[in-house]
Amino acid sequence: MLRTNDCGELRAANIGQEVTLTGWVHRQRDHGGITFLDLRDRYGIVQIVCDPAKAGMEIVQNVRSEWVVQVKGIVHKRPDGSENPRMATGDVEIEATELVVMNPAKALPFMINKEEDTDEAVRLKYRYLDLRRERMQRNLQLRHNVIKFIRDFLDRFGFLEIETPMLFKTTPEGARDFLVPSRLQPGSFYALPQSPQQLKQLLMVAGLDKYFQIARCFRDEDLRGDRQLEFTQLDLEMSFVERDDILDLVEALFTEMVEKIIPGKRLLSSPWPRLTYTESVERYGSDKPDMRFGMELKRLDGIFAASEFMVFKNALAGGGAIKCLVAPGCSEYSRRDVDALTELVKEAGAKGLATLALSPEGTRGTASKFVTLEELAAVQALTGAKTGDLILIVADQIAVVNKCLNLLRLHLRDKLNLADPNVLAFAFVVDFPMFEYNEEDKKWDAAHHPFTMPKMEDLPKFETDPASILSDAYDMVLNGYETASGSIRIHRSDIQQKVFGLLGLPEEEIMAKFGHMIEAFEYGAPPHGGIAPGIDRLVMIFADEPNIREVIAFPKNQSGKDMMADAPSPASPKQLDELKLKLNLEKKENKG
Ligand code: ASP
Repeated sequence: MLRTNDCGELRAANIGQEVTLTGWVHRQRDHGGITFLDLRDRYGIVQIVCDPAKAGMEIVQNVRSEWVVQVKGIVHKRPDGSENPRMATGDVEIEATELVVMNPAKALPFMINKEEDTDEAVRLKYRYLDLRRERMQRNLQLRHNVIKFIRDFLDRFGFLEIETPMLFKTTPEGARDFLVPSRLQPGSFYALPQSPQQLKQLLMVAGLDKYFQIARCFRDEDLRGDRQLEFTQLDLEMSFVERDDILDLVEALFTEMVEKIIPGKRLLSSPWPRLTYTESVERYGSDKPDMRFGMELKRLDGIFAASEFMVFKNALAGGGAIKCLVAPGCSEYSRRDVDALTELVKEAGAKGLATLALSPEGTRGTASKFVTLEELAAVQALTGAKTGDLILIVADQIAVVNKCLNLLRLHLRDKLNLADPNVLAFAFVVDFPMFEYNEEDKKWDAAHHPFTMPKMEDLPKFETDPASILSDAYDMVLNGYETASGSIRIHRSDIQQKVFGLLGLPEEEIMAKFGHMIEAFEYGAPPHGGIAPGIDRLVMIFADEPNIREVIAFPKNQSGKDMMADAPSPASPKQLDELKLKLNLEKKENKG
């Protein structure tokens, strides 16, 4: 080894030892003829004292930030009063006897030793420098810890880690596929897996019983703060299980993980709440509620059934609903504050926002003139709103009402600091609808994916009322994010075919795309189910980061580009020729 110790490990107990250290020059300063170098590696920072007057040490005067050096020296106690309690190595310093420059560095595009606001594009272009920063090293360490914990935990429970291919066939998860042209079969394409869904089910047919994989998934969709084109899931599948077996396992996994390896965070509750999709949407307006705070939505349809207020009357007459939430202590919100909230709901499709401000001077707000004293008393009794609070009411079609109130709830969460950043509020949402109607294409889509088992008692509704069919699908949610989805699967080929049929897939297409699944189910497929927690999103939340890019070593930017290597990039004519592909760039869209 080119070093005897790392830069983070020396303590008072090492005083007197001769050590050889290597690393990057984090910072240097001259002090009364002596040069101090802070030497950094992955493990920490240690102070090196260099005297340029000593033979062979002159070179220290040339050394600059981020040069890679090797230092030989003796560990000393720092002079009294100059200890640095903020550094793990702050009791000691190394008196250098030899200094070797292993590699100089050009002036960097940004500082490593300061958390300054560096332009995102520059950070991504020089990602290998960005990753030198402490924050990024901490995030990657945490990510490693999370993955290692998962492997060890599942191994204890008898799971096998099995790799599945990247070059495969389309697996519908609701996104666009990435296609890979085949050279050996010109004109044919592999699809990169949107998830290993089909393969993990086939592993169950194969009798592997408990499978997991730290699986890379590829989905060609628009990027967002919590979405990348490729991302990592803990993909998991088990045979001979029911829903609660899977939920119990995942709950135990993350409960133990948080206790053991997520510093500074605590679970809001154990056991975790389990709510149905319907209940979640009714109480929070969302199927991924942030349960760190209350502020639940309340339904006012009954109270305002006979209201003469046109906004309420019209909503109810049109088959809609009236719901509200209470913003605590906000009765004195200014006109501007309320306008901002109104703007928010209008953008989400509502016609407006009705308000009741319970000011100490009396009730104000846009709905106050139209609400009777009895109605107000009933609303207060239902919601617990008291003097000083602001009641926000949306009356519209139920989907719009829920969407708007969810947005308001999350907006107020941030504005009023209602959610403790150190609390992890895990929950399961269960019993999702099986199908969603796609208005644009006038057809049914699978709400989760088409391999999800519909509730047995709902099978007769395939012909009569697909919208009301529930499925054995579930999500794990955390602090307002969807952090896993899963389901009990269809293991009977007749039911699988029924589902594909309702999705409007013609028989030939079903067989071409999924014939292997349908056939496999005819050879003794066990009942099975699984789930897939998103590693990037979870680590992002554990690390208090706003974006999954911060916990992925080499992420893409918002337009799907790798800024560092400049990918994607054009293929050479020879490559295209080998693949028998011709470009047609006339309709060039989505240029990154
Ligand atoms: N394959 C699903 C997904 O990626 C998860 C699952 O059903 O296990 O969302």
